[in-house]
Amino acid sequence: MSNSTKYVFVTGGVTSSLGKGIISASLAKLLQARGYSATIQKLDPYINIDPGTLNPYEHGECFVTDDGAETDLDLGHYERFLNVPTSQANNVTTGRIYQSVIEKERRGEFLGKTVQVIPHITDEIKDRIQILGKSGEYDIVITEIGGTVGDIESLPYVEAVRQMMWEFENDCIVVHLTLVPYLAAAGELKTKPTQHSVKQLLELGVQPDILCCRTEHELDLTLRKKIAKFCNVSMNAVIESRDAESIYDVPLLMQAEELDKVVLEKLGLSAKSTPKLDNWKEFLSRLKKPTTEVNIGLVGKYVELKDSYKSISEAFIHAGVSNEARVNVKWIHSEKLSKSNLESELKDLDGILVAPGFGSRGISGKIEAVRFARENKIPFLGICLGMQCAVIEFARHVLGYDDAHTTEIDEDCKHPVISMMEEQKNISEKGGTMRLGAYACQLKPESKVSLAYNTDKISERHRHRFEFNNKYMEEFEKAGMIPTGKNPETGLVEVVEIENHPWFVGAQFHPEYKSTVAKPHPLFVAFIDAAIKNKK
Ligand code: GLN
Repeated sequence: MSNSTKYVFVTGGVTSSLGKGIISASLAKLLQARGYSATIQKLDPYINIDPGTLNPYEHGECFVTDDGAETDLDLGHYERFLNVPTSQANNVTTGRIYQSVIEKERRGEFLGKTVQVIPHITDEIKDRIQILGKSGEYDIVITEIGGTVGDIESLPYVEAVRQMMWEFENDCIVVHLTLVPYLAAAGELKTKPTQHSVKQLLELGVQPDILCCRTEHELDLTLRKKIAKFCNVSMNAVIESRDAESIYDVPLLMQAEELDKVVLEKLGLSAKSTPKLDNWKEFLSRLKKPTTEVNIGLVGKYVELKDSYKSISEAFIHAGVSNEARVNVKWIHSEKLSKSNLESELKDLDGILVAPGFGSRGISGKIEAVRFARENKIPFLGICLGMQCAVIEFARHVLGYDDAHTTEIDEDCKHPVISMMEEQKNISEKGGTMRLGAYACQLKPESKVSLAYNTDKISERHRHRFEFNNKYMEEFEKAGMIPTGKNPETGLVEVVEIENHPWFVGAQFHPEYKSTVAKPHPLFVAFIDAAIKNKK
């Protein structure tokens, strides 16, 4: 059977956290640079329909696509590396697979058959893998299988891969990531865990074509030979993947190991010419040689797990590079921030970002941080809940409404300056029901935001239930907090700014999701620029 799209499956063995997402994104980047259109898909073996209802402490940030999918944070890496938007089809969970199979069963589509993991669940997985391939948009689809080979929950995925390898034998390959640990006591790198994890894949009927070996030390020729021999792969298909200083180094490290070349060879595609990746290298060299630095405080309630704010911290890296500045992020726990330590915690910062979030935990610390930034004229960027906190703070301390709040936290407050969006009021289900995905926004000419974007029409991604309460609009404007971005259809306030402040912007949307290496986000670039200009 032939198939015009080629599939690369990426599996992981030995341990989790080997960086399959970064390897997949790096490979896609290299294939893209060779002139192939490539996309990446993540299959997650958990039973949640999507990560939207997951606490960030579980899996880090929930990434949001233009089409409003709440997805795994790896999709953020894919977009940041490739500068191509992903969509709902790029992330599938076991929950979604089962949901769809069960719905089909209820509709009678299986014609009385017993519905089973094989073939029904595996067929659904295979269909989902091929949705992107069949769209005709991509030459190569890279499908990353979440979890570790051998996990009970990832078995149906490995089985689906086995079947596809069989059905489309010339169009599919498997890249398996493993760990080659260094045993300090023996002074040696050890290949046994790799051998075992390949054996485990073989037991499931899958022979990997390429092994990507995560290691802290050089994988010498002897070790490569040993791995190749024990794992039935060619020598050039044993790829060393050394720990890197920055995730953005990985595409170049993989290029040096010729991962992309080996992949193309095994897929029967021409290598074309080796790409120079000039822009990428330029980005890296600016990243490594900043001419200045700024200290930015990131105020949030999940700061113990930095992955909870992955897109924000990556957007800082991109914006830093644009400004030739190193952005030192100080992670500030909003729950631990109070009037008594505000000054000592925030006084040395050149900029303050108040992060998105849900619920009441840490909200007063966020509001205090906004106040400090406003009163001390420190550049400020508030995102989603951060913007809502800026509105609440302004209402309380400038308009004098002591009990102003968001109805998310105080439903009966006298001054609900942030209130639930009309369309949200009759929704009771939690999953996938927020205002999600890309919406147009009209910016006010000459505002800080329109200067930052250099246009007055933008589109940004949303994920929220509450909004600025337009009943208060006039009062805010009179007192100096200006709505400078609005949804052109509904009039929802999407951006607020404060006059007479060096740079104070609150955005109801999430700019961080759209920042990439090729296109650092204009709001982050302008925020870092303001922070540099107002440096302590
Ligand atoms: N909890 C707020 C809302 O639902 C903000 C959400 C967010 O920060 N993403 O509107």
